[in-house]
Amino acid sequence: MNRLLSASIGLHGAALGAAILAPGPRRGAARRWALATVAANQAVLTAAGMCPRSRLLGPNLARLPADLRGLVLSFDDGPDPDVTPRVLDLLDAAGAKASFFCLGQRARAFEDLVREIARRGHSVENHTEHHYRHFAALGRAAMRREIAGAQEVLTRLAGRPPRFFRAPMGLRNPLLQPVLDESGLRLASWTRRALDGARHCQPEAALRRLTRDLAPGDLLLMHDGNCARDAAGRPVVLDILPPLLERMRALDLPGLSLVSA
Ligand SMILES: [Zn+2]
Repeated sequence: MNRLLSASIGLHGAALGAAILAPGPRRGAARRWALATVAANQAVLTAAGMCPRSRLLGPNLARLPADLRGLVLSFDDGPDPDVTPRVLDLLDAAGAKASFFCLGQRARAFEDLVREIARRGHSVENHTEHHYRHFAALGRAAMRREIAGAQEVLTRLAGRPPRFFRAPMGLRNPLLQPVLDESGLRLASWTRRALDGARHCQPEAALRRLTRDLAPGDLLLMHDGNCARDAAGRPVVLDILPPLLERMRALDLPGLSLVSA
């Protein structure tokens, strides 16, 4: 358990002890102190969970070692029957590998696409079963169901168990890390993201976000599922991926998957 969680448990115990054991005349003040302490601690834990790249709640891969010969491309929320095959073709044409953080529910609907991602040498990783917006508010059992459901179907289709997990929108709570530990998964966030899942995402701005200070070890996030559309109705990821791959080629930075990195 990391130091913040250990300290939080200790703090809760101390607050409870003070509230119960304080002598009669001081009990009111002790209870107010205990409540304020617990509330402040909860605020710190919540804030840590709302920062996708934070390591305060446990290990979190936001960047790979800078001596890596290349960078990692990752795609979330798929597979998507319209977008994923075109992303795969663009990657193949550039000789690049990537990691696909798939949803269990979508994998069940498009099983052949998951098999195809794996067949072409990319890694299939876990992004929960349903991508609930309230994932960070779930209890331990519900988190376990969301992760185990996706892990089961993705393992069956990809032929190997996912090794990395990305939380929906990167948001989580302190209960996630023990579930990841028992599932054999590592949390992965990102170095920079395109924000191409947001409505009204401009391709030029998304590409600038991704390529600013492009460097070995970067872990970049785009979307093949739930991807925004440009003014012409085309998925933004298909606008930004070709120039990104071209920039990587010019800088001699091969695209890698998390497993091949
Ligand atoms: Zn997502």
